[in-house]
Amino acid sequence: MENLNYLGKKIKEGGKMKVSVGISSRHLHVTKEHLEILFGKDFELEVERPINQIGQFASKSFVTLKSEKGIIEHVRILGPTRPYTQIEISKTDAYKLKIDPPVRMSGDVKGSQPITLIGPKGTLELKEGCIIADRHIHMLPKQALMYGFTDDEEVMVKVPGEKACIMDCVKIRVADNSYFEMHIDNDDANANLIKNGDLLTIIKKDFTSK
Ligand SMILES: [Zn+2]
Repeated sequence: MENLNYLGKKIKEGGKMKVSVGISSRHLHVTKEHLEILFGKDFELEVERPINQIGQFASKSFVTLKSEKGIIEHVRILGPTRPYTQIEISKTDAYKLKIDPPVRMSGDVKGSQPITLIGPKGTLELKEGCIIADRHIHMLPKQALMYGFTDDEEVMVKVPGEKACIMDCVKIRVADNSYFEMHIDNDDANANLIKNGDLLTIIKKDFTSK
């Protein structure tokens, strides 16, 4: 157990590291090209409110999700536009749409679930793009360095309360413009009675699995 980093030392000494939770409701990210198909040429997303991740926002624009067997209306687009279109839903939503999207990290949409988007000006039949987002924790490079995490590392997170649990397969996402926060979907939140802003405890895996 040489070369213990800061968090490693703390955990070994019984210390804890907490992270606050942001619950992601179903939403989507779109390319500029797709936005214009759905909303018309030169349409731009307007800010309804900023979200914690720096530079990103909940827009004022909504679309309808449609599968062969189901429909979910009023799904919000998060801005700004991205290089890929990605629809993030929960397993409960997937049951409603009778589809089976894979659990993926943001941006990894290749071969994911096909879905149709309906906007006020147009419809898009996507061959891929619908996912269930994995559980993840955003942090800045300097925080990763300070706390001893690496990008893409998997940790566990302990949830307190009446429906306490330990969440596994939580990915660390290191990037500039990050806000230190854990993101889970509504299903994870509801199942374990987690509210926005709750503080959960990070368990570094290499110290628990040995
Ligand atoms: Zn996130």
